[in-house]
Amino acid sequence: MKLRPGLLAAALVLAAGLSACGHPAIESGSPAAPPAARLDALNAADARVAEVSWTLARSNADLCPVNRFRTGWSLQSASQYGDALRPVAEARYGLEGDLPGILAAPAGSPAAAAGLAPGDLILAVEGRPLDRGDVGAASAYDGLDANTALLDAAAAGGGPLDLSVRRAGVVRRVVVQPVAACAYPTQIELTGSFRSHTDGRHIFISDRMVEAAAGPDQLAFILAHELAHAVLEHRTQPDVTGPRGAGNAALTLRRGLSLSAEADADRLGLYLLARAGFDPYQAVAFLPRYAEINPAARFPQANAGGVYESAPARRRALQPVLADIAARRADGRPLIP
Ligand SMILES: [Zn+2]
Repeated sequence: MKLRPGLLAAALVLAAGLSACGHPAIESGSPAAPPAARLDALNAADARVAEVSWTLARSNADLCPVNRFRTGWSLQSASQYGDALRPVAEARYGLEGDLPGILAAPAGSPAAAAGLAPGDLILAVEGRPLDRGDVGAASAYDGLDANTALLDAAAAGGGPLDLSVRRAGVVRRVVVQPVAACAYPTQIELTGSFRSHTDGRHIFISDRMVEAAAGPDQLAFILAHELAHAVLEHRTQPDVTGPRGAGNAALTLRRGLSLSAEADADRLGLYLLARAGFDPYQAVAFLPRYAEINPAARFPQANAGGVYESAPARRRALQPVLADIAARRADGRPLIP
């Protein structure tokens, strides 16, 4: 996968593959915090995001323009970490070089159904050994990317994935049955700023935005808004994002999305999260909380991600949507706008 790092603020994104939902090698958190505590914080955020992201992707597969057979797992490798965190990650998860380890296996996902869990290391797929790469390498993603691409290719046909997996030194065979889900994997960006966005192929959420969400419903508000942009194909429509084409991506990102595109993503996002079983009322409660935490959100904003109404105005605009969702539920009508 090529992320065109120049387009991404500070290039802090982990170049992870389609299956992955990892975090960058940049070492986050207070530099004074011990590595184990920093790794814990990263992994907790990864697990939260993986769970919500998977539930949204799976539950809305029928609405997404691009689907893939996916396992729901998030992957990591020893080599993606810098020197301080790598030994801790290796010891805790049995990671080795570029080999993909399970970072998260969300409840209800094919990965979880197959019994995969953090601490499992994937050694081979369909009898083909994965490349462990240069075991001493730090902050390197290419090897994990290549292995992830092999796993994705094996899953693409929809058939069961035959894996060789090591856990606590014991190698066993694990068969995973992928299912169709929206094709946009989610990645955490360690920017320390409030931001979430999509490039039409991935969904990105900053570490601070993950912290800002009080629970799964509020995290679903943020991620479903981005999934709605992907469903509506806002990043490829000339009228909302500028001229079509990869060559114009930088322009697109600078301009952001229009006010109406953002309002549409807010609205559709609520239906998407309701379809996935999240509580729309709890989800919308993110907006007042966000305005409390981030004073800029109390006013209309224009930034690289888009042009937004103030958080209170966004909340007001969603009241009819909440009412429509409640009415549809009461009548047993489908939750489609
Ligand atoms: Zn948006």
